[in-house]
Amino acid sequence: MQTGSDPHRDGVNWAKSIPFFLVHLTPLLAFFIPFKWEYVVVMVASYYARMFFVTAGYHRYFSHRAFQTSRVFQFILAFGAEMSTQKGVLWWASHHRHHHKESDQPDDVHSPTLRGFWWSQVGWILSSRYDEPRWKDIKDFARFPELVWLNKFYYVPPLLGMLGLYLVGGWGWALWGGLISQVLLWHGTFTINSLSHVFGGRRYLTTDTSRNNFLLALITCGEGWHNNHHYHQNTANQGWFWWEVDLTYYVLRMLSFLGIVWKLKLPEHQTKYVHLTYTEAQKRRLKLQSVFGQGALPVADEEPSVLPPLAAPAPAALIKRS
Ligand SMILES: [Zn+2]
Ligand SMILES: [Zn+2]
Repeated sequence: MQTGSDPHRDGVNWAKSIPFFLVHLTPLLAFFIPFKWEYVVVMVASYYARMFFVTAGYHRYFSHRAFQTSRVFQFILAFGAEMSTQKGVLWWASHHRHHHKESDQPDDVHSPTLRGFWWSQVGWILSSRYDEPRWKDIKDFARFPELVWLNKFYYVPPLLGMLGLYLVGGWGWALWGGLISQVLLWHGTFTINSLSHVFGGRRYLTTDTSRNNFLLALITCGEGWHNNHHYHQNTANQGWFWWEVDLTYYVLRMLSFLGIVWKLKLPEHQTKYVHLTYTEAQKRRLKLQSVFGQGALPVADEEPSVLPPLAAPAPAALIKRS
């Protein structure tokens, strides 16, 4: 699992990561600013507004092209996503596309099962090894000069955000809505790389360790339905059943109603319900994986030694909705 010689674990650039660690100390400043409940409201609003852009922008639009929109709103999605201080939009999306190609395989940059929790949570981000976008994986969006600019100057949106909070509400807003909310937002987002490959149920057979987790879905605006997502990546919704709360999708539906986004891709009936066709052995395997993880499985005699190729239904298996 984790060894000292693992080149991926040796890559944290401590000097360059100082700002990241300093932001983690800023909540202590709350002791110097008289508390107001208003600050908590600003913190929560800032968290969920930016989480929406992380998941609708960085993830569902730029990484997976799960819906379409105008060039102007595309820029707004990128700008809003970068307000979360998670580097450039092309950087984020290109590394995420790579994660799906290599999920929990040796080349996956943030697999918790292969490299441990802390590496998947923050280590890989603080490493210089992955500083550059994977340009060959993001050619479709790299042709937009405004996105290339935004990708290069990724610190501009969060700095403008901080300035805006300060101008409106003073140091209290900047601290609670900017910095404290930022720490929560980082770790809320990163749970999808770490915890959602460790805790939760598995409905679909995939070759990775992705899980579905209600609590993670609440704190990440719907990204906690990660087993659904790894089974079929390109859908605008990740909660596929009514009880699978997916705040991002509800907002996308509203934006679609207003004509701001369109052609939201949804899973087709046979994709959603494929688990009903699994054999008893496959169902048992999923149950065991949910409890013990992928690696700790006793493989029963009657189980196939190779999982069936269910992970990537053909694009034709999608229905489009505007
Ligand atoms: Zn994943
Ligand atoms: Zn994804």
